[in-house]
Amino acid sequence: MSTVISAKDIENILAKGGDVKSLPADAILTPSAKDLLGELNRRQGGYATAAPAKSPAAAPSGPPAKPLTSKSPKAELEALFNSPYALDLKEQICEMGHRLWKRAYVDGNGGNMAIRVGEDIAICTPTLVSKGSLKPADMCLVDFEGNQLLGTKKRTSEILMHLQMMKRQPKAIATCHCHPPYATAFAVAGIAPPTCMLPEYEVFCAVGVAPYRTPGSPEMGKLVADLTDQYNTILMANHGVVTWSHNCIEEAYWRMEIVEAYCRTIVVAGQLGKPINTFTGPQMKELLNIKQSLGFVDPRYGLKECELCDSGDWRPGVTCPTPAPAEPTVGLDPEAEAAVKAITDQILSQLK
Ligand SMILES: [Zn+2]
Repeated sequence: MSTVISAKDIENILAKGGDVKSLPADAILTPSAKDLLGELNRRQGGYATAAPAKSPAAAPSGPPAKPLTSKSPKAELEALFNSPYALDLKEQICEMGHRLWKRAYVDGNGGNMAIRVGEDIAICTPTLVSKGSLKPADMCLVDFEGNQLLGTKKRTSEILMHLQMMKRQPKAIATCHCHPPYATAFAVAGIAPPTCMLPEYEVFCAVGVAPYRTPGSPEMGKLVADLTDQYNTILMANHGVVTWSHNCIEEAYWRMEIVEAYCRTIVVAGQLGKPINTFTGPQMKELLNIKQSLGFVDPRYGLKECELCDSGDWRPGVTCPTPAPAEPTVGLDPEAEAAVKAITDQILSQLK
C-alpha cells in the first residue's frame, strides 16, 4: 500500500537532515505536502511546479519526486511529457500564448515560451504556429542544447536563447519572448525606459538592453543570458523583449504586460508638455525592499538612495528649450563692410 506523506512528514525528514528526493516513488502527497515540495524546488532553483494561481484540485499532479534529465530513459521522459503535470504546464503556455496574441504582442508566428521540467530539459512552443492558436498537443520537449526529445511539431527556432537563460540563471524556470510594440520601440532605439515612475514596473521588472544579433543564434542567447543575473526583463535591440520568472510562466507573461504598459504610459506622459514627477530616493528604496522580499533580481540593491533614480538616456517630457530668436541682422559690422567693399572694388576694377 502507498504511503501518504503530509507537509509535517516532509518537515520531519528535513529536520533530521534527510533528503526529500528519497521519498518512495509511489508515495501519495497531500496537497500541503505538494505545496511545500514545490516551494522547496523553487528555492533550490528547481523545476516548474503547477501554477500557484490554481487550486490544488485543478493541478492534478506535481512534478516527479526525482527530477528527470535528458539522459533519463525515453519511457520516463515520455511518461513525464504525457503526465497530468506536463499537461497542466502545456495548458498554461497555451493560455499565455492566447493572451499574447489577443494583446497584439506577437505577429505572424512570432513569440515563444519555455518551462524547465527537469535538470536539463524544458517544454517549449513549436515553430511556425501562431500563439493565438496554440494547443497543448503542439508542445515540444527539448534538452538544454536545443535537441528535440519529444513532440510532433518542430521546436521554436529561438529556443537556444531560452535555454541559455535557464543555464546561466538557475532560478529561471519559465521564459517568455514576444514583440510588444511600445517596449520593442525602446529596444529599436536601444534605450532602457527611464525608471522611478510607476510602482508595479519597479517591483516586477528590472530592465536591461541586449545588443542585436541574429534571432536564434548562440551569440544572441549569450548576450541575453549574461544579463539574467541582474535583469528579468530584457529588451533585445531591434527585435523584441524576453522575460523570465523563478515562479511560473504566468509571472514571466505578467512582466511582458507590465513593461509594455509602462513604455506606453511614459510615451504618452512625454506628450503632455509637463515635467514628469518621479519617486524620491526613499520612496524608491521602499519599492526595492518589496522587490527583494519577492526574490526578484535588480541591479540597484545596495545602492545609496540618491543613486536609485539615475535614469540614463531619455526622459519623457524633457525637451531642450527653444533658443531665443537671434537679433535681426540689419547689416554687417563696419570692419566686414569695409572688407566687402574692398573685394567688390577689386572685382569691378578687373572687369573694366
Ligand atoms: Zn522574436
